[in-house]
Amino acid sequence: MRFDVITLFPELVRPVAECGVTGRAAEQGLFELHTWNPRRWGTGVHQAVDDRPYGGGPGMVMQYAPLAAALAAVGEADPRPARVIALTPQGRPLEQAMLRQLVQQQPRVALLCGRYEGIDERLLEAAVDEEWSLGDYVLSGGELAAMAVIDACVRLLPGALGHADSAAQDSFSEGLLDCPHYTRPEWIDGRAVPAELLTGHHARIERWRRREALGRTWERRPDLLARWIPGVEDAALLDE
Ligand code: SAM
Repeated sequence: MRFDVITLFPELVRPVAECGVTGRAAEQGLFELHTWNPRRWGTGVHQAVDDRPYGGGPGMVMQYAPLAAALAAVGEADPRPARVIALTPQGRPLEQAMLRQLVQQQPRVALLCGRYEGIDERLLEAAVDEEWSLGDYVLSGGELAAMAVIDACVRLLPGALGHADSAAQDSFSEGLLDCPHYTRPEWIDGRAVPAELLTGHHARIERWRRREALGRTWERRPDLLARWIPGVEDAALLDE
């Protein structure tokens, strides 16, 4: 998979291909990260990429031309067409299913990061396939959202995680939250590891985990349960 990120702060985004799970995946060649600074196509001595908003008001707006030039360069860098996603607070809220679909369908993704008051609307209309949001709050720029997209996608790439089942057990992968996890020691500060996890009985452990995942989702995210489709093995648990 190849990600092209258009950003005024490439140094902020690059560490996603240098650290931890995603860093290892980049090293293994599972994905490529390329950054493009629109300032390269800016104007004047300061290579300006922003200007005052029409109609007045505070802040600056990212101009059409430098971003269009950056996207044209992204297009020329690789013949495969890229899906262009702008990160904005007005976009579709990010969900695991959107990322899974992206990984399955799209070998190339261009991520456009805004700054200031945002991007000239005409560029969004002309060159962007979709707008995605990290959530209902306002960040200073799209970079953290772009990194979130890259990180969450890379986890889903075959071979990225140490254990092939890890991503399948993560929260949201089957529509539920993940179960709680424990590690050594068995006792700490008067708290024990749930006895079921110490039985060594694979089927019982799996059943415990599924029940915990269901209970947790019911308590914390009932909205997820409303959309969840139970498997055959869940019928007995739901009766309990
Ligand atoms: N004036 C804009 C608004 O209220 O919709 C917010 C602009 S924000 C300060 C600057 C940039 O940060 C946006 O263009 C966008 O790229 C990015 N951004 C801010 N919040 C975001 C979010 N929740 N998800 C994704 N990107 C976000």
